[in-house]
Amino acid sequence: MSAKTAHAPRNTRMLRRALGDSFIKLAPHIQVRNFVMFTVYLSAIMTTALANQSAFACAIAAILWFTVLFANFAEALAEGRSKAHKLEYRMLHKDGSIRWILDQAKVMQRDEHGKATRMCGTHTDITERKLLEEELRRQSHVDYLTGVYNRRHFMERAEQELSRAHRYGSPLSMLMLDIDHFKQINDRYGHKVGDTVLKAVADLSHATFRDVDILGRLGGEEFAVLLPETDQHAAADAAERLRETIANARIPLTGGLTVSFSVSIGVSSMDSPEDNIDALLQRADKALYKAKDSGRNRYQFFTAELNRITRRKAEIESSLRSALAVKQGLFMVYQPKIALESGALIGYEALVRWSPSAGTLVPPALFIEIAEESHQIVALGDWIIDMVLDQVAHWQRGGCTVPPVAINVSPVQLRYPGLVERPAHACD
Ligand code: GH3
Ligand code: MG
Ligand code: MG
Repeated sequence: MSAKTAHAPRNTRMLRRALGDSFIKLAPHIQVRNFVMFTVYLSAIMTTALANQSAFACAIAAILWFTVLFANFAEALAEGRSKAHKLEYRMLHKDGSIRWILDQAKVMQRDEHGKATRMCGTHTDITERKLLEEELRRQSHVDYLTGVYNRRHFMERAEQELSRAHRYGSPLSMLMLDIDHFKQINDRYGHKVGDTVLKAVADLSHATFRDVDILGRLGGEEFAVLLPETDQHAAADAAERLRETIANARIPLTGGLTVSFSVSIGVSSMDSPEDNIDALLQRADKALYKAKDSGRNRYQFFTAELNRITRRKAEIESSLRSALAVKQGLFMVYQPKIALESGALIGYEALVRWSPSAGTLVPPALFIEIAEESHQIVALGDWIIDMVLDQVAHWQRGGCTVPPVAINVSPVQLRYPGLVERPAHACD
């Protein structure tokens, strides 16, 4: 940091002293006092430059603008219109690096007309602070592990792209990708390798997409890519390119081994002016779910038919929840098991059925799958065990000899503790 005092009758000398020679070199040539005229002149240059899209003209105009604005600050200070000034700007160091400078100046003394005659100021090299600020800003935007945008910043950038797409009527598409069986990779090779795989997905995606495409990690092993100016066909091509690149990649591990993996991708495109990012993400997510369901290592485009199916599933999920809560509409049927040779009854298989309203029956394969996906299967399974035990007790009270009754149990329920104890407990 350096400090200077200046004592000068003329504005230009004061400016030079207070603010540094290199900075005001242009000031005497541009007639700071004719500021208004100059502004008009520069506006004309800017307009012409922008109209012609000439980068050089734009750059010259921008430099002149900056100089005039700066000179105006300084002149205002010198003439007593302001008490102090503070300005941050960049300078090209002679070693070629760019340094950030903070200039602060304050009027110390004025003449009888109020003009500044003595001022004190400092130039401070604030490059380190600026770099730190830039790094903190970058860190708040990116995911620490993969270096792609974090969810929050991805959403911000996506909203900007959406506004642009609405304004210009241009197409916009979204990809959502999820690593297949990622848990197995973690379990088999450890979390460090899992992290390497996550980084590889980010790197391969960067290498596959254009600079304008926006890549974010939404959480866990789930990424999203927003593709500006991209319709559904081009988006499907991009998804397939990425899928193939990832499926063919071999990530080297220590000891000469490699790990390979695949991703499933859901694709959605903007299809109405009311579309928003949440809707695009939701549709891409539904498509991703379908891609997983259809065998993984594939992409799936969101279609009206897929929409119809997912809506129907959502409805079934919600009414199944209500049915389980009030225990209505669900009932058991008992399918006899007959020995083929003797024709004797050797047991029953208990089967659950669901009739949400009179005369309707939801196919069991459909609602059981939905119960598994929506984590209702344990409640449903417990309810089935209770119903069957009640029925067996009822038959026994009626004097029947009850053959073995088989109950189907979802593999999901096997992972929950207490399954074995439950029937014994219910019999007590
Ligand atoms: P699917 O094919 O259905 O997507 O199965 P999956 O195993 O990929 O999905 P699941 O949701 O069962 O597992 C995701 C795993 O991702 C579980 C979690 O421990 C792991 N995970 C989430 N974040 C990280 C991370 O930052 N690093 C590592 N190594 N693992 C992570
Ligand atoms: Mg996942
Ligand atoms: Mg996964």
